[in-house]
Amino acid sequence: MLVDRARVAAALPGYELGDQIGAGAFGLVLAGWHRRLQRDVAIKVLATAQEGARVRFQTEARILAGMDHPHLVRVHDYAETDSLYLIVMEMLAGGTLTRRRAGMTAQESCAVGLAVAEALAYTHARRVLHRDIKPDNILFDATGLLKVTDFGIAKLFAGAAASASAIMGTPKYMPPEQLTGGRLGPAADLYALGVLLYELLAGVAPFDPTLPPHALYHHHLHTPPPPLPGVPAPVATVILRALAKDPAARYPSARAFALALAGAAARGYGPGWVAQSGIPVCLADEVHAASERPADPVAKEPLVTVHVPLPGAIPPALDNAPDSGEPSAHQAGRQPSDGGSPAPAS
Ligand code: ADP
Ligand code: MG
Repeated sequence: MLVDRARVAAALPGYELGDQIGAGAFGLVLAGWHRRLQRDVAIKVLATAQEGARVRFQTEARILAGMDHPHLVRVHDYAETDSLYLIVMEMLAGGTLTRRRAGMTAQESCAVGLAVAEALAYTHARRVLHRDIKPDNILFDATGLLKVTDFGIAKLFAGAAASASAIMGTPKYMPPEQLTGGRLGPAADLYALGVLLYELLAGVAPFDPTLPPHALYHHHLHTPPPPLPGVPAPVATVILRALAKDPAARYPSARAFALALAGAAARGYGPGWVAQSGIPVCLADEVHAASERPADPVAKEPLVTVHVPLPGAIPPALDNAPDSGEPSAHQAGRQPSDGGSPAPAS
């Protein structure tokens, strides 16, 4: 896209313009410098007379300006003149997830998934669907903090779902209901996040994105994703549930997904996996707690739950025991190793 830098400079007199740092479907992104505040910014530029693009751009600016979350890009300013529209954002100098994902460990990938899920829980609570979750739209700031960006096709949803006015998004990550122009709810963003996590953990997307569009759509609509080899079963189960064809069969919310992923990864990689990943994440207390929870030793559960002493079957010696009831059975059934900390499930 041709953008006249002199016009951008005239529309933003307080800023120095730098190099082009990105380009997308409808705009380009320039580096900038706020002279008085002495801070780096990124300036997203849309130069078009096209009504739809302009409305989407203004919607993006307004949506982001109303959001305040550590894992969402911040908007500082907005300007427009004639057919030039400008969003001034925080500079995210750490690059995109597309660039950083090479060599990411499984724990790092899951921590990325948690951060994105937390950002989505925040936007969904404000009735905003992102609709284009993918590695190009996930950036990092200079300190390595993850930020969900590009609300260019975001949409407000009322009640349970938004009606899709036009089919937009990135086919590799699009849920069946978005491909077919159906009603969209939070589960649509969870599907895209499921594809993203699948790709990070498996090294390939669940469905070959190089296929012709109709073949790729067919897979999203009808083919169960292949199993995730080498991924701990609890983590794979969470990701595959996010990829359910039926939105109602996915998690009911981004927070529910985050809780499930945090707990599954604790079982798969051990409690403390988030800190070990080294990825800075800002989590709700309950999600953090789930990520720290030791695996439930599955073998213990039946011993506790089946203890129902039958009348007359209680040995006389136990009748006077201070807490006759539960303890006798599960103490009797305990393995010597029960007192130790549980090993993570593989
Ligand atoms: P589009 O809607 O055109 O995809 P994006 O908002 O995704 O626009 O921006 C396109 C690209 O510009 C991004 O993939 C990224 O490389 C770069 N970019 C966007 N926002 C920022 C930012 N705040 N800081 C640094 N680079 C950015
Ligand atoms: Mg983008």
